[in-house]
Amino acid sequence: MGAIAEALQDIHRRIDDALAAAGRPATATRLLAVSKTFPAEAIRAAHTAGQTAFGESYVQEALAKIAQLAEHELEWHFIGPIQSNKTRPIAEHFAWVHSVDRFKIAERLSAARPAELPPLNVCLQVNIGGEASKGGAMPAEAIALAARIAALPGLKLRGFMTIPRPTEDTQAQRAQFRQLRVLFEQARAAGLAIDTLSMGMSDDLEAAIMEGATIVRVGSAIFGARSKTTTEGQP
Ligand SMILES: *Cc1c(COP(=O)(O)O)cnc(C)c1O
Repeated sequence: MGAIAEALQDIHRRIDDALAAAGRPATATRLLAVSKTFPAEAIRAAHTAGQTAFGESYVQEALAKIAQLAEHELEWHFIGPIQSNKTRPIAEHFAWVHSVDRFKIAERLSAARPAELPPLNVCLQVNIGGEASKGGAMPAEAIALAARIAALPGLKLRGFMTIPRPTEDTQAQRAQFRQLRVLFEQARAAGLAIDTLSMGMSDDLEAAIMEGATIVRVGSAIFGARSKTTTEGQP
């Protein structure tokens, strides 16, 4: 078995163990394989091993890989920062966007979604850690913003996403994920029909699953370490 297939198997074991520990159903959390900075070959290897959903952060890089892999039935998720002049290619080529953080971007994605495609699945990114440098809507404004996004015709609001402040303290990880889950429950109680909590990455997926993650976004634990220069520059 190849390294990527083996790593996928390990991740599925971690997800299964965490779901069991949380007392949640075995199918409650989906794996999004974050393939940013890795070549089409790596994605092909993961697909051969059964993985179908892939996350990308940089538009140009993603479009090249989507074209290279067009013969495969893959589900593409955009998870990176969104510049307003890039909304059209995102709306045309992706099935999901996890990183919607303001109404203007949601409106542009909705307007650019081709009529022959189903509505674009979106999550509102929330800045749970409150770090000035991080993207995401502030928690206090998230529910009102989510309600406005839910009304856009080209989009289907699925839920919330967060990138927490990094910490190795499991309890601190869980506390941040719990804040997003509480927001999710409040939004549902307010009448929003949402089903997705996109949270948890290579180093903290267990904490996220304990707090209700329905999608974990895992990159380096599947594909290996990314070189810093490639991830920090926005092509
Ligand atoms: C890169 C990235 C991930 C994956 O992170 P790993 O630590 O490599 O698992 C998840 N979510 C977002 C938004 C990312 O940009």
